Amino acid sequence: VHVAVLGGGQLGRMLALAGIPMGIGFSFLDPAPDACAAACGRLVVGALDDPVALEAATEHAETVTYEWEGVPADAVRRLAAAGRTVRPGATSLEVAQDRLAEKTAFTRLGIPTPAFRAVDGRADLEAAAAELGLPLVVKTRRGGYDGKGQAVVQQADRLASAWERLGPSGPLIAEAFVPFDRELSVLAVRDRHGEVRCWPIPENHHAEGILRRSVAPAPGLSPAVAAAAEAAVTRLAAELDHVGVLCLELFQVGESILANELAPRVHNSGHWTIEGAVTSQFANHLRAVCGWPLGEVAARGHSAMLNCIGALPEPAAVLAVPGAALHRYGKALRPGRKVGHVTVVADDADTLTARVEALRPHVG
Ligand code: AMP
Repeated sequence: VHVAVLGGGQLGRMLALAGIPMGIGFSFLDPAPDACAAACGRLVVGALDDPVALEAATEHAETVTYEWEGVPADAVRRLAAAGRTVRPGATSLEVAQDRLAEKTAFTRLGIPTPAFRAVDGRADLEAAAAELGLPLVVKTRRGGYDGKGQAVVQQADRLASAWERLGPSGPLIAEAFVPFDRELSVLAVRDRHGEVRCWPIPENHHAEGILRRSVAPAPGLSPAVAAAAEAAVTRLAAELDHVGVLCLELFQVGESILANELAPRVHNSGHWTIEGAVTSQFANHLRAVCGWPLGEVAARGHSAMLNCIGALPEPAAVLAVPGAALHRYGKALRPGRKVGHVTVVADDADTLTARVEALRPHVG
């Protein structure tokens, strides 16, 4: 079996690390000649909308999938029209690539989301501030990730500078600021027959818009909140006819949830599943896109995932902590770049906390 992956970053690399034991071979398409998935398969270097490069990367594959949500939806449509099996499909990409389409879909499906307004001009921004109040979160509709392309406007006299900074990058969206208690994400896998399984829900901590730490299962999560999150991601997956893993990022406020963002792919907040769940997000994504039965998603105890941003820890220091596993992505170190992660697993929450404390001087 051969799977072609559009994108060749760490997510592609971890897909291959999960798929190679099942006998899957991999090709990757990535514009970067040093794309880190190349360690685990054949790398085709080229733009993701280049028909020649797309053909070269996918010609021997039974199934095509993607690990980057910036893949042009048209490229996926053309591959599908040419007879390739592409899972997930173009619709999942289109909805996830435009924050307005995303939030409109949430609303249509009855999934609560922060109040929002489309902002196509300066006047729309003033109107959004008047209707939604301050603080106001202003984001580019397309292309933003890891907190890039957004501003939190605290005072009305700052609307102009937010417009000057973000307006030139294209249409915007304004959202009510949510004073959330914490951030959660729900990861689900859906197979081609429509069966959906949801992993235990992690609690996520961000700094400067970048995920730093996930703890799974989220401490103290009520069954009602978990059920609401699972219902939301299940509805969304069915609406998109999504096959594979998807992730819905959420704000928890009291006993309610608000959907922030959809990722139509394996996700950083699911990395803990490699050691911390019976079947990882990567293995289950491959099972789904290859048309195989889904694996169990139960947690094996309590897990924490700590991201390595811009720097890597000393391996010996990490590996001295019981239950810890080190992942280095083989990427060049640059400030703000995700270059690795550490997952630590324990049988109980107190032991997990002690192990995270032992890791903290070395990671994050
Ligand atoms: P995003 O790029 O939409 O995932 O936003 C990055 C981070 O900014 C989120 O993880 C939140 O911590 C914060 N954020 C985004 N939208 C809002 C909002 N409407 N209210 C409060 N915080 C937000």
